[in-house]
Amino acid sequence: MSKIRGLAAALNGNGRYKLKASSSNMVKSSSRLDDGVIGLAIARRLAERFPSKTTFVVERHPAAGQETSARNSEVIHAGLYYPPDSLKMQFCLRGRQLLYEHCKNHSIPFRKTGKLVVAQDHQRAYIENLHARAQQLTWPPRSKPESSSGSVLPTRLIAGDEARVLEPDLSKNIVAALWSPETGIIDSHALMTSFEKDIKDAEGGALVYSTRVVRVDPWLGSSQVKGSPSGEVAEKGWVVQTVTGDAEENDAMLARTVINASGLAGPMVLNSLLPKDLRIPMYYARGSYASYKGPGVTYVSHLIYPCPGTGRTEHGFQSLGTHLTLDLEGNIRFGPDLDWLDPPPIRENPDGTEEADTDFWTKHLVPDQSRLKLMHQAVSEYLPEISLEGLQPDYCGVRPKLVGPDGGFQDFVLRTDYPETFTTNGVKVGSGAQGTNPMITLMGIESPGLTSSLAIAEKVVDDMLYKEDEAKADKAEEKEKV
Ligand SMILES: Cc1cc2nc3c(=O)[nH]c(=O)nc-3n(C[C@H](O)[C@H](O)[C@H](O)COP(=O)(O)OP(=O)(O)OC[C@H]3O[C@@H](n4cnc5c(N)ncnc54)[C@H](O)[C@@H]3O)c2cc1C
Repeated sequence: MSKIRGLAAALNGNGRYKLKASSSNMVKSSSRLDDGVIGLAIARRLAERFPSKTTFVVERHPAAGQETSARNSEVIHAGLYYPPDSLKMQFCLRGRQLLYEHCKNHSIPFRKTGKLVVAQDHQRAYIENLHARAQQLTWPPRSKPESSSGSVLPTRLIAGDEARVLEPDLSKNIVAALWSPETGIIDSHALMTSFEKDIKDAEGGALVYSTRVVRVDPWLGSSQVKGSPSGEVAEKGWVVQTVTGDAEENDAMLARTVINASGLAGPMVLNSLLPKDLRIPMYYARGSYASYKGPGVTYVSHLIYPCPGTGRTEHGFQSLGTHLTLDLEGNIRFGPDLDWLDPPPIRENPDGTEEADTDFWTKHLVPDQSRLKLMHQAVSEYLPEISLEGLQPDYCGVRPKLVGPDGGFQDFVLRTDYPETFTTNGVKVGSGAQGTNPMITLMGIESPGLTSSLAIAEKVVDDMLYKEDEAKADKAEEKEKV
């Protein structure tokens, strides 16, 4: 494989949008976010926790969730695969519990199908290891056992023959399997619609579509510019500039808090504020799905996953292997496979600005026949009777990776920055002291991001922002006392 590049591109890299000084007639909002399942879940929680403040959700597409959140397996993961102390594991365990509750309370279609991770003889140790680790897990913060005997991650090792009782089409080469009863499937569009409804119904919630964030600058209040003209906003925060539709003019707003949950574009705001050598590279790993109608799956009723590869450049932290998923109508599809995309290089202009095609990955979203042969080979390892002719290209999704093919485990990243941390137009705006009015950037939110969405929202709002708010209130109280 040729060396895959990371794309360390910055928002507004070509410098088209200039800093607009914050003015008193600028729209002010408490928080602003982007709008996939993660942004929506956080906005919903914010609107619920801070009803008197404005939560402004900005999405570049005409509707929510048209990027990664609409292009995944729609599986509610149980939490089998991640290191026990990782955010991925903690959020998956907590998120799974919250998601099932949310589905029940909001009539979101879902089904706890259960899942089998199937193993050939040489893969036995892999599932035994998953099982042993599952037994040692403890409940994540805030979660309570669902029943007195409740294990946080129930799993059972079964023999190949028992697996074939559950799934008669499985290959005779499957000698053992790990049964995970907590795994399920969900209608992710209905989930996002329910989040949107809660935001719209909340007093301070606002959703703005077809609007792109084109520039974000830290703002320290009127002290930022020497001899600041009267009328400039004294408050601290972030000047967020947006363009709606094909408008020539851009708008600016002062956000007291910014939550950047822009999925595949996650690091780009930070990259526009960081020196070049500290920029965060983005890697893109496409996953293709194929629908299937044909022989060899007559009795399928559970999700079936192979053991992922265990090599240096092919392992379960990159992809779980081409598995069988079901949708809520019982249709079968296989995928996603793993296909690293090579981004085009960034072109430097003579004036130091840059041109980067940061949306190059959208050209790779059309599924084609080219992946089917490999998918057929992979699936035949556990479902030997399936036919190549029964596979049809279905759709593709792109994983927002922070490490390339040679990288190992990479956790979700939730990074907090304050306006003081950055320079604006090359001028350092503060001392670097930490304080209030954070920008929280979510990066590398690949699988199990959908499962984790409500837990991530809880973490960001209740732990990261609510505490900020409490600290502010304490400071204000202390001032009053003096
Ligand atoms: C192939 C694949 C399979 C997966 N399967 C599963 C699974 O079965 N279970 C599971 O739990 N997870 C799964 N995931 C992970 C899950 O889909 C993601 O973690 C989740 O959808 C990420 O949501 P997000 O909101 O962070 O990103 P996105 O859905 O990409 O949302 C980000 C939003 O930000 C908007 N945006 C970006 N830049 C701007 C800008 N400048 N201005 C305005 N808006 C902007 C985008 O338009 C987009 O709508 C899978 C992922 C992939 C790729």
